[in-house]
Amino acid sequence: MIVPDIIIAIDGYSSTGKSSFAKLMAKELGFLYLDSGALYRGVTLFAQEERFIDNNNEINPALEAALQGVDLWFATDNRTFIGERCIEKEIRTMEVSSQVSPIAAVPYVRRFVDAKLHELAKGGRVIMDGRDIGTTVFPNAEIKIFMTADPDVRAQRRFDELVMKGENPVLEEVKENLRQRDYIDSHRETSPLSRAADAFILDNSNMTISEEVAWVKGLIKGKFNLYDD
Ligand code: C5P
Repeated sequence: MIVPDIIIAIDGYSSTGKSSFAKLMAKELGFLYLDSGALYRGVTLFAQEERFIDNNNEINPALEAALQGVDLWFATDNRTFIGERCIEKEIRTMEVSSQVSPIAAVPYVRRFVDAKLHELAKGGRVIMDGRDIGTTVFPNAEIKIFMTADPDVRAQRRFDELVMKGENPVLEEVKENLRQRDYIDSHRETSPLSRAADAFILDNSNMTISEEVAWVKGLIKGKFNLYDD
């Protein structure tokens, strides 16, 4: 199936498997994958290391100017970098997860990330995942998916992922972090997490990733009248 140069937006709650799905889809379709959450996580790591955020989530407004000097980018294998330094491992820790939502609620941080996403997506043929891609960043994306899954299933998936990465998580803490992030993400003033009116809902609580890919490929085929090769 030959897919035209479109933008595919994948939004949804935390740990619904958006990035694993989007990565696989990108590989199958020959699209560029962009992980918008990684950019928010990169800004959070920067803010923590440079002490622009304290333990009470107070953010120093000097962060806005400092961000202009931050060279945040993706390698072709999707790893996230600041300048020469690969920050892929650091941005996935619970420490970053615990402060990313307050950082992502700040309007100038959102403008910084949105500008980057637009620059990276210039050529089209992009699949992007996040919270506001289909509503705010690319409201004209041709295909929009809103992912959801049972909270217990999501917490278990995230827990397993952290264990695989060598962390020592506590299931209840992981669950609480997801709950808090979903709450802050859905209630912030700027670009809150919400389903775009034209997004398809994908509840993957009981689906395998290949079933998800087949389902979304079916949507694309239907929308563009495509045929299998
Ligand atoms: O997708 P991921 O869980 O890595 O995103 C981390 C956090 O970044 C989210 O909990 C959310 O606070 C923020 N985010 C956002 N808008 C996006 C992507 C992520 O606010 N488009």
